[in-house]
Amino acid sequence: MSTSRICPEWPQVDKNEYRGIWVYVEHQNGVIKDGSLQLIGKARELASKVNVGVTAVMVGHKLGDLVKEPIYYGADRVVYVDDEALAVYMPHVYASVIVNLVNKYKPEVVLFAATKRGRELAPYVANTLRTGITADCTDLDIDVKTRDLDQVRPTYGGNILAHIRTPTRRPQLASVRPNVFPTPPRDTSRKGEVIREVINNLPKPNGSLISIKPVTKGDSDLPPVEKADIVVAAGRGVGGPEGVKLLVELAKAIGGTVGGTKKVTDAGWLPVDRQIGQTGKTVRPTLYIGVGVSGAIQHIFGMKESKIIVAINSDPNAPIFEYADYGIVGDYRQVIQALLELLNQRRAGKGS
Ligand SMILES: Cc1cc2nc3c(=O)[nH]c(=O)nc-3n(C[C@H](O)[C@H](O)[C@H](O)COP(=O)(O)OP(=O)(O)OC[C@H]3O[C@@H](n4cnc5c(N)ncnc54)[C@H](O)[C@@H]3O)c2cc1C
Repeated sequence: MSTSRICPEWPQVDKNEYRGIWVYVEHQNGVIKDGSLQLIGKARELASKVNVGVTAVMVGHKLGDLVKEPIYYGADRVVYVDDEALAVYMPHVYASVIVNLVNKYKPEVVLFAATKRGRELAPYVANTLRTGITADCTDLDIDVKTRDLDQVRPTYGGNILAHIRTPTRRPQLASVRPNVFPTPPRDTSRKGEVIREVINNLPKPNGSLISIKPVTKGDSDLPPVEKADIVVAAGRGVGGPEGVKLLVELAKAIGGTVGGTKKVTDAGWLPVDRQIGQTGKTVRPTLYIGVGVSGAIQHIFGMKESKIIVAINSDPNAPIFEYADYGIVGDYRQVIQALLELLNQRRAGKGS
């Protein structure tokens, strides 16, 4: 397909002018988001296929030593802009900084973690640059001949995987769901180049059209699903909020957290940020326990990378058993009660 057929008013680009894989590295309160670190690892893999370097892009204020972190996780170079005007995240300002840098350095690929910010920034940047963006990818590859990024994402309700390419535009932009790739190890002996760029005339924070409200944290004392090493997932089979409470008890007893299927979060039994799956969070804990979860493909997308999968379901034909390492067929109340009793006995030193 020719460029002119896609969008006649967009200028032609010379693909050969664009080289290098970039990762926009998101941070908040002095901490880099895991999703960005995971993308540095993937970018390394892609870059080595087409013999280019990995550049991390950072935007903010008072970044200090944080700018060195991407190097420790595998970046060859960090390009950053540190300015008072960037102290508070505002999408149009951050996007204009990224666009400025892209226009100067001309990378062939720019990756964003599909966090709330990444999902907002990436299309903003893509639209300004007149290029394509594939949102919410679950895998990436690169064609060594054409240097086209193979952007993989579920579509049609997760029933098929689409392979999307941007053959006539550069750079190629994609956002990738956090946790689909592992976080590379932090190696402080790695060395790389750190370049500070200055962009003049950035709008001052209070000149913005956007008002910033303080963020309030949820009242749950359980860790977020994407961070926990043990996740107990509630499905509709738990019957209601009372059932979820029982799972919270189990999660606390084994040092884990609670997540759920879309049906559970849609019903309001758990907050939306605990939804696991294609349109929720991706988890890769050491132990995932699905309770009353049928195993719809949209849910499986979000948990299939878990190391050990345990399924508790009253229906022996529930699809989740196809993915489970251990399956327990039965009413979840009886199974969970038995597990809790066993744990209590062990704690009291009666069991082995
Ligand atoms: C575009 C799109 C995006 C979606 N995104 C997501 C997503 O991100 N995450 C997600 O989870 N879903 C998602 N869904 C919904 C998904 O298709 C399923 O509908 C959903 O995952 C099913 O949830 P469930 O397993 O809780 O419920 P159900 O499918 O209703 O399964 C309930 C299970 O509980 C079992 N059960 C019943 N009683 C008991 C009992 N007493 N003890 C033990 N087991 C019992 C049943 O046998 C059954 O297997 C999406 C759907 C679409 C179309």
